[in-house]
Amino acid sequence: MSNQYDAVVVGAGHNSLSTAAYLAKSGMSVCVLEKNEIIGGGAVSREVTAPGFKHDTHATGIILAMANPMISQDELELQSRFGLKFMSPEATYVSLFEDETWIGTFMGLDQTCESIAKYSAKDAETYRAFVNRTIKMGPIFTQGMFKPPIPPEMMLTMLGQGPEGQEIISLYGRSCYDLVLEMFEHPKVRMHFLKWVAEGMVNPSRPGTASSLYFMTAVAHTQEETAVVGGTQAMSDSLGRCIEHHGGEIRINTWVRKVITSGGKATGVELSDGEVITASKCVVASIHPHLLGDYIDGLDPTLVEDAKNVPLSSYGAINTHWALHEAPSYKCPEINKALLVETIPADMDRLMSSFDDCTNGKLASVFNAVVAHHTNHDPSRAPEGKHTLYLYCFAPLLLKNTGPLGGQDVDGWTDEIRDEYKEWMVSEYAKFCTNMTPDNIIASAAESPKDMAEWSPSFQNGDIMGVTGALPLGARPTPVLAQYAVPGAQGLYLSGPFCHPGGAITGGGRATAMKILMDSGVDVSTLMQI
Ligand SMILES: Cc1cc2nc3c(=O)[nH]c(=O)nc-3n(C[C@H](O)[C@H](O)[C@H](O)COP(=O)(O)OP(=O)(O)OC[C@H]3O[C@@H](n4cnc5c(N)ncnc54)[C@H](O)[C@@H]3O)c2cc1C
Repeated sequence: MSNQYDAVVVGAGHNSLSTAAYLAKSGMSVCVLEKNEIIGGGAVSREVTAPGFKHDTHATGIILAMANPMISQDELELQSRFGLKFMSPEATYVSLFEDETWIGTFMGLDQTCESIAKYSAKDAETYRAFVNRTIKMGPIFTQGMFKPPIPPEMMLTMLGQGPEGQEIISLYGRSCYDLVLEMFEHPKVRMHFLKWVAEGMVNPSRPGTASSLYFMTAVAHTQEETAVVGGTQAMSDSLGRCIEHHGGEIRINTWVRKVITSGGKATGVELSDGEVITASKCVVASIHPHLLGDYIDGLDPTLVEDAKNVPLSSYGAINTHWALHEAPSYKCPEINKALLVETIPADMDRLMSSFDDCTNGKLASVFNAVVAHHTNHDPSRAPEGKHTLYLYCFAPLLLKNTGPLGGQDVDGWTDEIRDEYKEWMVSEYAKFCTNMTPDNIIASAAESPKDMAEWSPSFQNGDIMGVTGALPLGARPTPVLAQYAVPGAQGLYLSGPFCHPGGAITGGGRATAMKILMDSGVDVSTLMQI
């Protein structure tokens, strides 16, 4: 194994793998270094319950990446050459209410409106008119997502030039909660949209969240929501195959402890065993802004302090995985068509209290989950005839009170609290089903925000989006670091959920590669659509 490359990449999350794949395809020699025993970071599937059951321990529903030319144009040949396949069940996501009624969001607007009209014809028509407007705004949202971001002041000027952009500007400071109450009359319709927006991990009552509904509806009716055939891991593995095909190397079980700089330039990295690997052109690093000062010596103290102070999301999640004999059988059978099911409490106050509890450090006493049963659509994820279940609830990043587990004040997560909440979650979930009895369960596992942070330092305190989604466009994670480059460490570029375009599976590392290649004077038009 060599220890000299053009590009050294710290971390093998899907973002840095995407960057590495473009760099390798451009002809650079590339080495990717990953601390875990598998590549993928938050895009992994692991047999955490029983042999043969592949669970997406983190990301499971994929939509934003579908708009990325990396996937939509197959720029890296991930689909045509390296084995990546998606599946897309009929309904994107379905809200299942405690009284066994439901509302679905489908890619088709007519079908979605029919689902809403069961509760309110007026709300269905309001939604139709709203989506017909947001779809026109779609390009404003998505066109810049997979390129280096436009600086905030330029973005504002551009938005101000047309009526759609002006409408987006007018949303600044408004909460999704206020918007939804103003737009829709039926409580179930309101809750359907509030819960969906809450998936961005920012409390929807927070000022600034209104624009999320515009963005999400624009995307939901133009891009398929998918899951990866065989599990999300297969996406990371296809990126790994692409990197190796173009001559790149990937080392797992390899901790990077420092980025080395000399004369204001990043020249390589030092591993936890002291080995030094040099980079002649660039170092790409999944280093969370809170940790920047720990990894790189000699940076401007104000830059380091500002990065350390970037706020995290409102809450995180506890994610549980179940190996089952039979797929969950719902009392409401239409639910099986959905890719993702959102269980929703009976009234608005209880729904909002669950977000507020998690924001305030308390485990929510109201059951408010996201569920996926991928083996209904993709049997390759479990042994023949068996099934998997993904059952996820919002949870505090820093736990202070155990809520439904006796309401004790505590100082942080423990494995016992996590496992007790897992059992509470499945007992609440079982109320929606006819067969979620102990004899259907083969094995289970859970991850708390603390476990997620240990798996990937991009998820500080378990923030699955890296940092809050409430930062101004083009200024993520800070205005100074927004263009991926790190002033004072020339040749060092950041890649991660804390950078533009943000958390989730986006393939956003494409934009980092574009920036690096353009800085190196490479004509990127031969590699990627500009
Ligand atoms: C429970 C959960 C559910 C989620 N559900 C969804 C979903 O359904 N849909 C969706 O789109 N998104 C979802 N997400 C969010 C999504 O998974 C992340 O935002 C995304 O994976 C971030 O990708 P990344 O490549 O930027 O970083 P990461 O995936 O965090 O990868 C960073 C990698 O770098 C490695 N690393 C860091 N520092 C070092 C070091 N010093 N040395 C060596 N290696 C290092 C880490 O081990 C890790 O593998 C979910 C996340 C979680 C945790």
